[in-house]
Amino acid sequence: MLKKRLDKTSYNQPIKPKGGTSVKIGRIVKVSGPLVTAEGMEDANIQDICRVGHLGLIGEIIEMRKDIASIQVYEETSGIGPGEPVETTGEALSVELAPGIVSQMFDGIQRPLNKFKEVSQSDFLVRGTNVDALDREKEWEFIPTLAVGQEVEAGDIIGYVQETKVVQHKIMVPYGVKGKLTKVEAGNFKIEDTVYQIETESGVRDFNLIQRWPVRRGRPYKVKKNTEVPMLTGQRVIDTFFPVTKGGAAAVPGPFGAGKTVVQHQIAKWADVDIVVYVGCGERGNEMTDVLNEFPELIDPTTGESIMERTILIANTSNMPVAAREASIYTGITIAEYFRDMGYNVAIMADSTSRWAEALREMSGRLEEMPGDEGYPAYLGSRIAEYYERAGRVETLGSDGREGTITAIGAVSPPGGDTSEPVTQNTLRVAKVFWGLDATLAQKRHFPSMNWLTSYSLYDPEVGKYMDENVHANWSEYVQHAMNTLQEEASLEEIVRLVGLESLSERDRLTMMTAKMLREDFLQQNAFDDVDTFTSREKQYRMLELILTFEKEARRAMKLGSYYAEIIDGTEDVRDRIARSKYIPESEIARFDEIREQIKTDIEKTIQHGGMTHA
Ligand code: ADP
Repeated sequence: MLKKRLDKTSYNQPIKPKGGTSVKIGRIVKVSGPLVTAEGMEDANIQDICRVGHLGLIGEIIEMRKDIASIQVYEETSGIGPGEPVETTGEALSVELAPGIVSQMFDGIQRPLNKFKEVSQSDFLVRGTNVDALDREKEWEFIPTLAVGQEVEAGDIIGYVQETKVVQHKIMVPYGVKGKLTKVEAGNFKIEDTVYQIETESGVRDFNLIQRWPVRRGRPYKVKKNTEVPMLTGQRVIDTFFPVTKGGAAAVPGPFGAGKTVVQHQIAKWADVDIVVYVGCGERGNEMTDVLNEFPELIDPTTGESIMERTILIANTSNMPVAAREASIYTGITIAEYFRDMGYNVAIMADSTSRWAEALREMSGRLEEMPGDEGYPAYLGSRIAEYYERAGRVETLGSDGREGTITAIGAVSPPGGDTSEPVTQNTLRVAKVFWGLDATLAQKRHFPSMNWLTSYSLYDPEVGKYMDENVHANWSEYVQHAMNTLQEEASLEEIVRLVGLESLSERDRLTMMTAKMLREDFLQQNAFDDVDTFTSREKQYRMLELILTFEKEARRAMKLGSYYAEIIDGTEDVRDRIARSKYIPESEIARFDEIREQIKTDIEKTIQHGGMTHA
């Protein structure tokens, strides 16, 4: 069945099967957990997909020595043993890309989880079961955008299918194909039906709606570009202080209970991207079950539809062996690249890359490779880098010069929260943003618990420029000032701890007050409040402006002789209004002007009043 499937789609297969399509047979010599060694495999190649044992388990060759192949098997290997056959398909581990992919939940090697359960009639995956990644029977309405007679090249968009309410699935000429469009028709098609024909140098070829792509290879593009536009998340601490660009990469460590899940949900819900790919490589099955249950219930606020209308889930259920976890992030990023190639902005979240790295470590151990840092293989760093390098902003293939982006957000779960361990360190080398979730802040109920002192974004300059031009000319200046204030607070706190609050100057006490307002009124954001859950850029600016206006006016008053205590007394009401400004709906943003005016009048009153007492 597998072979038949390959033959059917082989014309869209960009990589020539290495061993031809004929099936070669070797014999198992050893089974060690997910690693199977087979002899007589001289015709196979590294990265070939194999069918292992009488059960036909799916595996991938990860090492070849003469005729001996080491195969990582994506299914539980118990019960198979030496002497059983191993067939190589000659094909690399690939994903199927066609309408029907959005809203799906797949396992690490793109087997649809729902279908799998149907076929196997139980919650447990039956080994060796063959299911198609995508529905073969469903019909899609294809609308052509090019006409017969036009010259086309790889990446050109022939037409589209409205895949979900919010996603238009562009049908692109596969990689390596060039020629004249000789047939294209509107109509309802199944994904295996011929939809268009191209006359290439080697003759007329039929094309259906499916492309296949080997997951370990990045899909090609024309040029990679600098990222400049921030991805809006509506989360103030991210957008204002630690932004990630569309096409950028961010790492988020998530100690248990620090609010990692909420951050991810918020991004999946609010990020201004077209497609979200969520890769769950969890150790604990129930974590993954949570995602599978919760995501379909989340509503995309801009469309009012379930976020699944633009989401693809890749999940490693607890009963899937470690090797499938290793493959899952590649399956995810390949799907992300496919949608990027359509000209979309895609966000991919991997949770957690530490679990993925552990899978790598386990396979490396079984291969008896020389271990590096903490037992991870020496190539851990390059594997992590290769993954994040597939994020970015690119000009895609195709003659229309369109652009697409992939923003990669990788959760890491360092054991004991120790970020000096290899996975975190290697991730930080390639991801330019670090959102340091902090268990202590979470305990204090400061959410999102991103530590403003340890987090950083190296996209600050680009994003600052963008925000200055698109939101307000003062943006970067305000952000810089606010961050300095928060840092100053940290050093002042040291002094307070040593010699007490009384020792602080009036000026420093105002700094402490401003920092407190920044923390409580700006950084703290309740994901579960209807209004506070999302803040537009404009409102983020307005909120920041209120706090900084308060500070500026208060400093002016001090210069004119007012005492800190007087200012605090005289501004109680307006400070309360500043604190509640997060609950002002986006539609009533004009209310910020009133509050700003009140800051000025109240402080002016304090100055007048102070002037009188001092006189
Ligand atoms: P983790 O996934 O890191 O274990 P969660 O994301 O489940 O942690 O967060 C734990 C709890 O913290 C949540 O159930 C919620 O009560 C609270 N929390 C986290 N982030 C926020 C937020 N932004 N707003 C309000 N509450 C939050």
